[in-house]
Amino acid sequence: MRPGRHRGFGATGVTVDDTDGEGNGGDVSENPNGGGGSGAAGARDCGGTDGPSGWGFETRSIHVGQEPDEATGALTVPIHLATTFVQPAPGEHLGFEYSRTGNPTRAALERCVAGLEGAAHGLAFASGMAAEDAVLRLLRPGDHVVLGADGYGGTYRLIATVYGERGIDWTAVDMTDEQAVAASVGPATRQVWLETPTNPLLTVVDIAAVADVAHAAGAAVVADNTFATPYLQNPLALGADVVLHSATKYLGGHSDVVGGFVALNDGDLAERLAFVQNAAGAVPAPFDCYLLLRGLKTLGVRMDRHCDNAEAVAAFLDGHPAVAEVLYPGLASHPGHDVAVRQMRRGGGMVSAVLDGGEAAAVAAVRATRVFRLAESLGAVESLIEQPATMTHLSVAESPLAVDPGLVRLSVGIETVGDLLADLDQALA
Ligand code: PLP
Repeated sequence: MRPGRHRGFGATGVTVDDTDGEGNGGDVSENPNGGGGSGAAGARDCGGTDGPSGWGFETRSIHVGQEPDEATGALTVPIHLATTFVQPAPGEHLGFEYSRTGNPTRAALERCVAGLEGAAHGLAFASGMAAEDAVLRLLRPGDHVVLGADGYGGTYRLIATVYGERGIDWTAVDMTDEQAVAASVGPATRQVWLETPTNPLLTVVDIAAVADVAHAAGAAVVADNTFATPYLQNPLALGADVVLHSATKYLGGHSDVVGGFVALNDGDLAERLAFVQNAAGAVPAPFDCYLLLRGLKTLGVRMDRHCDNAEAVAAFLDGHPAVAEVLYPGLASHPGHDVAVRQMRRGGGMVSAVLDGGEAAAVAAVRATRVFRLAESLGAVESLIEQPATMTHLSVAESPLAVDPGLVRLSVGIETVGDLLADLDQALA
């Protein structure tokens, strides 16, 4: 089945024009194909010129920003390792000057991901945290940030510790409680950070509702779309101002590249972020950009299989006697299921579960799986399992983001589903 046809999930989310009848994401913006500006400016201007508007998701992921090389006809984007580019005259260049400022392989990636998010502008970074850091560098001492009280521990650590110690105020709130969000924003609030579904509790946050509250207070909404990917959810179309990705996860998809991404429509904000990207210099290497471009080409088909397998895993765990609670947005019993149906195309590839036996049971289970490898990270073809309390979320122990030690998080890969279920069955036995 195609996305948008699953277990009550809405046709395609909110703004998608599914004119191709395939239900595969369709056209999410006026400029769905990205493209436009070349070279150094490509990071700042992805306004579409390449490809007919209305291209479907998979066509965009394979072609946007990736025209055959003009000089050689090479079909795939070359890895441009040159650090510098020869100029015809001082003050003139052919689109690129210096590889930190702009690189042709990176420009292709920036155009492609921007096109997938329906964004006018895209900027690639050396990691998801570098992307987050660039957005936070727009703040000044005395500014206030609101973030979710459930989410990736590294985001909390960066805001609360690194920026908190430098004069940025912050409040962590339950993002599913609109009144709590409204009560937490004030005149100094500049950014409201949300993640949906969240890491590791898979909480679904209503992006449009949070955007209404934040915008009424004059704050920008920064949405981490790492778990959903642009295949399943497009936060900009739902009212977010900035979309963030740990490209290390589903965008790359093969556990072999660390990267980050920011996509947005506001040209002034994009200029300021491009300035930070160049001034602070946390840019990805050309080879990493190539790996991400390669991963993106199969994002749609991978996500379909991730969702198929995750649905089967969630259903299996849901009926298992060793499991106290299954957290998966695709389950009708999930508290955020209705919102997920409105804003996502399917439930995604991540499943969390609280085990009946608490921490001891969680530790025993993650040590006993064979196909699910015990490791941090997520979003790749390989299935992974972890215990967030002592692994990915150790940095938030004792904080508002601390997680239950009986929780296990599964990144459901694209292996044969029967092998995944059999593996969990023996590990929980
Ligand atoms: N956002 C989310 C939701 C994440 O899960 C992660 C990492 O796990 C990050 C951001 C940070 O990304 P990176 O590890 O690429 O720096």
